[in-house]
Amino acid sequence: FLFLSLAGSARALSATKVPRPSRPINPDGWPEKFPAKDHCSRCGLCETSYVSNVLDACAFINGGMKRNIDGLEETVHGRTRCIDNSINGDDSIAEERRFGVMSRPMMLGRGKVAGAQWTGAVSSIAVSMLESKKVDAVVCIATGSDGGWSNPEPILARTVDDVLRGRGVKPALAPSLRILDELKSDESIKKLLYCGVGCSVQAFRAIEDELGLDKVYVLGTACADNSPTPKAARDFLKKGIPSIGDSNVLAYEFMQDFRVHVKVGDEKSPSYKKLPYFSLEPSVAEFAIADSCLACFDYTNALADVVVGYMGAPLVDDMDRNMQTITVRNNRGEEMIRCAIDGERLELGGTARGEGTHEKFAMSTVANDNLVNKMTGGDVKEKGMPPFVGNIIASIATKLGPKGVAFARYSIDYHILRNYLHCLREFGRDRADTMIPEYTRVIIKEYEESDQAFRDLIDK
Ligand code: SF4
Ligand code: SF4
Repeated sequence: FLFLSLAGSARALSATKVPRPSRPINPDGWPEKFPAKDHCSRCGLCETSYVSNVLDACAFINGGMKRNIDGLEETVHGRTRCIDNSINGDDSIAEERRFGVMSRPMMLGRGKVAGAQWTGAVSSIAVSMLESKKVDAVVCIATGSDGGWSNPEPILARTVDDVLRGRGVKPALAPSLRILDELKSDESIKKLLYCGVGCSVQAFRAIEDELGLDKVYVLGTACADNSPTPKAARDFLKKGIPSIGDSNVLAYEFMQDFRVHVKVGDEKSPSYKKLPYFSLEPSVAEFAIADSCLACFDYTNALADVVVGYMGAPLVDDMDRNMQTITVRNNRGEEMIRCAIDGERLELGGTARGEGTHEKFAMSTVANDNLVNKMTGGDVKEKGMPPFVGNIIASIATKLGPKGVAFARYSIDYHILRNYLHCLREFGRDRADTMIPEYTRVIIKEYEESDQAFRDLIDK
């Protein structure tokens, strides 16, 4: 959601003391009744008896992402990420500083599931794990019969059909951990695959040992700027891209060519509409990005065993055929990938590579971002560019900007810088600095030392 504006709302997240709740919180009370208030990502933990762990598990309170990522990376992967340099000093491949612990260089890969948001890589791996009986059940989000526009619900999937109910889920907050009590009480489940975004994986890792499972695998997705609800996502599309009209939207995403791609029609013969980021009305982001996602520093899902993403893959095809990225972090991740390849459900396309520098691009995006502009009290443009002009700018940016892995670096840094500014405005510098993981602190420090424009934004 680059270059968009967001109306600042009053956020009431308590700066220090959050009481430890002892009973599940009624979902109707979201977000006011939840400990992280407006910044609650609705991961589902607080809707279960595990709510009593919230101070040690939640990604948004009590040290949040810093406590979870810095504290658990070694426990989960056997070591912390190498923050200081890239793998083998080769800048064309993904480095651990931004992309997290890796047992091998980040790869390109593609799933084989029709009807998914992308190529179905997540569903492919999950199905393979079930079919090979490596797990008894998979925790995933199921979409309703309306193509993913109803509120997302977590399920304990035990069959291939169950897992495939997760295809085409829309980019909105989803209470994946709401399933924890059902999981704990089901004695037939001893081996589990948990699928989720970074904030929910963090909370899951914090309570994983209490579940009494023999084996746990975690399959993560890279994640940024989710909508609070599927309705907010749909409203964003309706208002931001009116030309879609009443078309049946199968999937949409902000892509590497600086355009929003929207897949519409039916699965057998879809078409793809594209609108440059720069032509979206800035006001559409007022309701389209959840506050939690503006305070998130876990784009690349640090604590999952395997992470599926897309930003680091060169864009050469439609979104549901283009290669995605696959990051394997440890031996469990290797096992999962091997299982999906042996089951002929996952195709690998070699090491993910990229070219170009990203820092100036990231900083100029932050400096020109209407969202940041609004946070820091600057002028906000009312209208997006006419599509003709927006397309020219998008084409130039695609040609001259960072590509592949370097594009992913650009997107990661943009979100880190933007979200740090958000946290500064919301919580003040002392508190913001206790929330950000060490890798984030190092990246922010580099921009702060090298870029006057960023220093100015910090000081505003
Ligand atoms: Fe609870 Fe999760 Fe919300 Fe944190 S993000 S307050 S753990 S539901
Ligand atoms: Fe959670 Fe971060 Fe994704 Fe938002 S962007 S849903 S906070 S992982």
